[in-house]
Amino acid sequence: MLFYPENIEINHIDTANTSIKLLVARLDKIHPIVSGNKLFKLHYFLQDALQSTHKTILTFGGAYSNHLVATAFACKAYQLNCIGIVRGEKPQALSATLQQCIKLGMQLHFISREEYKNNEAESFTTDLKNKFGHFILIPEGGFSTQGAAGAAKIMDLLHHCNATHIATATGTATTLAGLLMAANNKQQIISIPVIKNMTDIESRIKILTGKNQFNNLKILGDYHFGGYAKKNTELINFINSFYKKYTIPTDFVYTAKMMFGIMDQISKNYFPAESTIVCLHTGGLQGNHSLPSGTLIF
Ligand SMILES: *Cc1c(COP(=O)(O)O)cnc(C)c1O
Repeated sequence: MLFYPENIEINHIDTANTSIKLLVARLDKIHPIVSGNKLFKLHYFLQDALQSTHKTILTFGGAYSNHLVATAFACKAYQLNCIGIVRGEKPQALSATLQQCIKLGMQLHFISREEYKNNEAESFTTDLKNKFGHFILIPEGGFSTQGAAGAAKIMDLLHHCNATHIATATGTATTLAGLLMAANNKQQIISIPVIKNMTDIESRIKILTGKNQFNNLKILGDYHFGGYAKKNTELINFINSFYKKYTIPTDFVYTAKMMFGIMDQISKNYFPAESTIVCLHTGGLQGNHSLPSGTLIF
């Protein structure tokens, strides 16, 4: 596959606790737009679409969706047709994300929030097929067994790290499910939900993996900063000081919350001596464009 990386950059970070090793896996560096975990989640869908006769992908997202823009870019690169169903009425001014999608050739179709809620119903898919013809459907955020199987491939790039802990920000939990499927039983997979009160992570994992329980799953539920895409001065200051110290940019929706949580847990001595923690930099940096200019130092 075009963007599929052979290996990824791993950054070593020094912390006050010298008995542990902290690594950041730079999935964000794979490609400026099709970056992070999104490419992996798309992997099997792209393969299917390339082999299909209709060569069309249809997917869903909100106005700031990293998934939507990653899909748009990948489709352009592979010369696939692509349709984006966007949540909410068409606004006067399109977000930078949606403008980018259009530029990449994605055909946008706006539907009301009411209609959108139904997007997993069969009748909804039938309506779309009547409107757009045949397509490969990617659920919102890639939430599907294929999406998780694609995300599992992230672990192939981490073997040499000998991680005892692997941390990821969680939205739909698709990436998390993939990591859990590919982890060995000595590796703990740490989820940092970016949504408030996300109580359905286990049931989502069950849907995606078919397995009821993973003993090596740890959820750190206190780092959502008020909810999805919510932020405060503490988080913004963290992003800037983390960049100053390590020259690693993070995004305020996902990776900064994950990194904040892991740094906080390190300071609270959660990790035993000799731990090797790999934090996945899952990308999302384009999302920082929605912050007022000057907020971040990079
Ligand atoms: C989409 C996204 C996630 C969440 O991944 P899920 O598989 O939906 O849990 C994490 N980080 C970034 C940067 C993302 O864009």
